[in-house]
Amino acid sequence: ARQGFIAANPQSERQYRQATEVMPGGNTRSVLFYEPFPLAIARGEGCRLWDVDGHEYADFIAEFSAGIYGHSNPSIRAAIDKALDDGINLSGHNLLEARLAQALCERFPSIESVRFTNSGTEANLMMLAAAKAFTGRQKVIVFIGGYHGGVLTFARGPSSVNVPHEFLYAEYNDLDSVRRLFDEHRGEVAAVLVEPMQGASGCIVAEASFLAGLRELTSAHDTLLLFDEVMTSRLAPAAYQSVLGIAPDMTSVGKYIGGGMSFGAFGGRKDIMSLFDPRIRNALQHAGTFNNNVLTMAAGYAGLTSVYTPQAAVELNARGERLRATLNTRFEEASLDIRFNGIGSLMNLQITARTIRSVRDIDASRNDIKDLFFFHLIEHGVYIARRGYVVLSLPVGSAELERFDGAVASFIDRYRNLLP
Ligand code: PMP
Repeated sequence: ARQGFIAANPQSERQYRQATEVMPGGNTRSVLFYEPFPLAIARGEGCRLWDVDGHEYADFIAEFSAGIYGHSNPSIRAAIDKALDDGINLSGHNLLEARLAQALCERFPSIESVRFTNSGTEANLMMLAAAKAFTGRQKVIVFIGGYHGGVLTFARGPSSVNVPHEFLYAEYNDLDSVRRLFDEHRGEVAAVLVEPMQGASGCIVAEASFLAGLRELTSAHDTLLLFDEVMTSRLAPAAYQSVLGIAPDMTSVGKYIGGGMSFGAFGGRKDIMSLFDPRIRNALQHAGTFNNNVLTMAAGYAGLTSVYTPQAAVELNARGERLRATLNTRFEEASLDIRFNGIGSLMNLQITARTIRSVRDIDASRNDIKDLFFFHLIEHGVYIARRGYVVLSLPVGSAELERFDGAVASFIDRYRNLLP
């Protein structure tokens, strides 16, 4: 499969070699790298992509979930064009930011007050700062396998790129591990930061009782519960917390909510967010030249209010559930220990039929099978992330879903003897 990939993509390989002269790994986003070299994507349209060698793909990465609208959605494009006409660096409060803030708070009820950033990473950093200032405590419980941004990554524990924080590491879906940390650090824990589904780790779903338990424990210890919904906010009209029936004290969002442009936001209880009010003494500083950039503000508002409507959210996630069920039925009928896990429009291939409760349940030695799957899908015109991550975007229709299903069927036929 790999030899075929190399032979089919000479321009991507050339592009990669040139780019490595000026960027380590040939790119500025580590997540996009894979051996032998990553495809260079030339352009996109709707939910289709073309690489520099001219191959066409159905786009099932959708910018790791930020690309929910597909490429160059006309409503979003019109909003951006209008913003461009009116000047792009306004150096002041602007109407577009106020309008997006209003729409965002209406859509996600636990976010009573909000501030914008340029990325989900920054949103989480500001949210942590707010939690520490509000509680006057320094320690933050996070979960092994959690991903909250490039400088807040806990794949298998502490990481050398993390910004300094006093993190305490608990196990995902294990309330006792959280209880133990609260006992050991009584009165010192400012916040618990959690993804309601661990996205980057492989769409590991949280048990409802685990998240409900976190809500109870944090309230009992006067600790803030912080939901990172940068990835999961797309899973329901009012974010995944509405499905769970849990109101966190603060929430971070990002990805598609910026209309496909650079974006992040954090918000929540008004009493916490008012720490950022410049009129109070010792207000928290939250700066950022591009926090209210009009292109993001305009694109985000158009997307949230006229494209990813509550109805569209319900439909897209139902489409994802159906795809996941179809693919898993194929694996089951072939008696293979392979499944897609996840929720709605977000899913990840796992080389096991068991339920994955934490990143520790993922056997990294089976990555060879994920590789095989990846190269097979690429060969069949289906673009997914190398780790087996699959994301639906709004333009995905029956042609793309059938292509995906067909590629999985031929994968099973071709490699049946090699698969567990
Ligand atoms: N939190 C979660 C749950 C994410 O999935 C991501 C991005 N993959 C981030 C935070 C960081 O967002 P950004 O890449 O915009 O900094």
